[in-house]
Amino acid sequence: MSSVIISPNSPPATATTPEVRAPATRRRTVASRIYLPALSIVAIAIVLVAIGVASRWGGTSFVAAMTDQRVVVVGPVTIGILLLFLVVERLRPAQRRTFFARGYRQDVLYTVLNATLVVPLVVALSLSFSEVARKSLPWIVVPHSAFLPRWFVIALIFVAMDACNWTAHLANHKVRVLWRFHELHHSQEDMSVLTVFRTHPLIHVSYLIALIPGIVLVANGAVTTTLLVGYAAVVAFEHSNTNLSFGPLNRIFCSPNYHRIHHRVEGRQDVNLGFALTIWDQLSGRAVFPTKETIRIDTGLPGRPLAVEQSAARARHLSVLVAQLLGPFRPLDAGATRSESRDVPVTDDAGIR
Ligand SMILES: [Zn+2]
Ligand SMILES: [Zn+2]
Repeated sequence: MSSVIISPNSPPATATTPEVRAPATRRRTVASRIYLPALSIVAIAIVLVAIGVASRWGGTSFVAAMTDQRVVVVGPVTIGILLLFLVVERLRPAQRRTFFARGYRQDVLYTVLNATLVVPLVVALSLSFSEVARKSLPWIVVPHSAFLPRWFVIALIFVAMDACNWTAHLANHKVRVLWRFHELHHSQEDMSVLTVFRTHPLIHVSYLIALIPGIVLVANGAVTTTLLVGYAAVVAFEHSNTNLSFGPLNRIFCSPNYHRIHHRVEGRQDVNLGFALTIWDQLSGRAVFPTKETIRIDTGLPGRPLAVEQSAARARHLSVLVAQLLGPFRPLDAGATRSESRDVPVTDDAGIR
């Protein structure tokens, strides 16, 4: 990162020029304490929220949008589905472990965090992003067409939304500053259905592009809460600790056995990036289908660059939670990460290879 490294071409500071040396020292001190690019994600979130407040959320009721989002995250149907998956995990586990494993307890904290603080944040970001897109790109909205059946529009939104999520996920693995926020999701060593909630709240900034299909097709059929609940259920299920596949549908939908390969501790993690559909991985040559050997493989990050609840003699869930949420801001030399060190050849902080 250019703001971290002092250029070798810079004239060397000498003991007789303290006014020259002071700024360089100060810059190095700040950069040695914090990963400055991570602040850009904070800045984007703040700007978006400010735009939303100033535009009164584009005329949409914030409270009503929050109610809808809560239904998706922790509504009765979602909770019922999550409980069902938790039972399935006990019946057909990929890895046998106690119901009170540390990873499970930690992910309960992330579930509570999502149901409380993250819901209003996601709603604020989504409403603001939609308002910005509608105002700055009004031509992207497809006019109403009587020839488009509603079921077709919903299916189209589902597929297009999944393609956008796949693209954002790929960026999470290729762009260092985004990886800094995404690695928390990969740090789980005790995968469960609740791992779907183990995400940094600010990573939602990168997934806002998934709103575009709904904005484009809004005149032909809005994104329904039912669609989002169904989509969330698929994504939650693929994180479950179950040895299950979908048979012949394995080639189309991401199963727990398929997504587990994405979370493996050994080998490339920038494969199997799909959320619901495997087709984007197949089209890009990033699909690795499960075998007997991959079903029970360990998950997590090699070398544990981020604080994890499994590392200490005693589990300190709250202090680990704070460390994990502050993880993206830790300086680069505080631990190389998988994407930075092996799998992803990062050339700079902004470029995607
Ligand atoms: Zn990932
Ligand atoms: Zn995942």
